[in-house]
Amino acid sequence: MSDIREQWRSLVRKHALHFDGPAGDRIWAPELECCRRERLREIQGEKLAMAYRYLWECSSFYHKKFEEAGLGPDSIGGLDDLPKIPLTHREEWLADQERNPPWGTFSPLRHQDWLERGWMFFSTSGTTAKFPRVFRHTTFERDMVTYFGARALHAMGIRRGDIAINCFAYGTAVAFWGMHYSLNHMGIPVISGGGANTERRIMFIENYKPTVLLCTPSYALYMGRKMEEMDKSPRGSSIRLLCCSGEPGACVPATKRRVEDVWGAEMHDHFGCTEVAIPPLGYTCSHLAKRKEKAVDSHMTEDIYIPEVLDPETYEPVPEGKPGILIVSNLYSEAQPIPRYVMGDWITVTTEPCECGRTHARAIGGLRGRNDRLIKIRGLMFFPAAIEDAIRGLPEVGDEFRVELDRVGDMDQVKAIIEPGERDPDLTNQQRQAKVATALKGLLGIRVDVEVAPPGSLERSQFKSDRLIDRRPKLHEG
Ligand SMILES: [Zn+2]
Repeated sequence: MSDIREQWRSLVRKHALHFDGPAGDRIWAPELECCRRERLREIQGEKLAMAYRYLWECSSFYHKKFEEAGLGPDSIGGLDDLPKIPLTHREEWLADQERNPPWGTFSPLRHQDWLERGWMFFSTSGTTAKFPRVFRHTTFERDMVTYFGARALHAMGIRRGDIAINCFAYGTAVAFWGMHYSLNHMGIPVISGGGANTERRIMFIENYKPTVLLCTPSYALYMGRKMEEMDKSPRGSSIRLLCCSGEPGACVPATKRRVEDVWGAEMHDHFGCTEVAIPPLGYTCSHLAKRKEKAVDSHMTEDIYIPEVLDPETYEPVPEGKPGILIVSNLYSEAQPIPRYVMGDWITVTTEPCECGRTHARAIGGLRGRNDRLIKIRGLMFFPAAIEDAIRGLPEVGDEFRVELDRVGDMDQVKAIIEPGERDPDLTNQQRQAKVATALKGLLGIRVDVEVAPPGSLERSQFKSDRLIDRRPKLHEG
């Protein structure tokens, strides 16, 4: 039992309180979710030190990386030592897997563990790399993903008696496998709508009365409108709660209002990342999700992650309440207990108490988009989600839209292609264009040309959508 791998697993298990079921109806594990922040730091520090030693001994990639940073086996004793650990960028893993196919050498998992206790194989969805990055996980991870995921779903207000329908193609993507196991752990059955088309999923909802819908925000809107086209009522359906992932929509106020209005249900956010955060790094509690006008925050599961907010240029910490990019240390994984992984999403964090009683920090307005997705238009910086919020916030505009960016001479041209919304059906296209253009100028501070497309003519996005088309020449790449 002195084996470091076993010690690590024991420590993670020790801190997985109330594994089998919630301590109470309101909070699953109050000792962890509502503890003083000093206690949280102790737990994080204890786990960080052990994860570091485990990587030192069992991952040749990290052993070398730590040595090159001038660290030794006992260099990390607690949370105060965190800044000594070098950051990990996704490109390093990619290079490692290309040099050492097929798995790379960063994971402390041995092939023998995979053969004896393998759970699943996951891969990233990115298509830019030659190989997808792939990750092996064990049944130990499955148990932890199940438990920590269940805690988050409990915080959303999902309870025994609910029935879930999962509209994601499961495939080799992580998140919805995790949710499936978590729901089962809570005693909640799951209708796996992954392989079915929309009509069939609608039939599942009508016939088998699921109460919780899992999908992307885009799909929630798409499916709801599809039901309306079929003269069925999503509002009148059995769905009472939507757990959305894969896009920031649940934290984009205008999108959230539209989805909640279509379904007559509460919309929740759930985010993580394949590399280091399979149980949600962020999730909305039932208090936060009730916000209507302001952007919704997401709690971060700080007993299994250390989120840091750093300046994207200097990688120095930014003060609480100021935006920076997200760096995450994993504190539960057998295969990837990776410290200081650069997720790279913009985030602003607060540790102010939440009405729900949880003390874990919150990402204000959820994840704000990756640093590399920030768009510069006429010298101003925009997140795609901010543009989405401005456009969908206008009642003259339908659900679907496209934004096209072009450069004419030295000038950025922005065109929003919209469909007419429900309000003011008698407006001519010209009147609608003028009204929307004026509103967007006020909201975004830039001139936007507006084109009104016939209703239903823009392609409906069912999955992770990209409504922003940037055709400008890349001037500053390299
Ligand atoms: Zn809360």
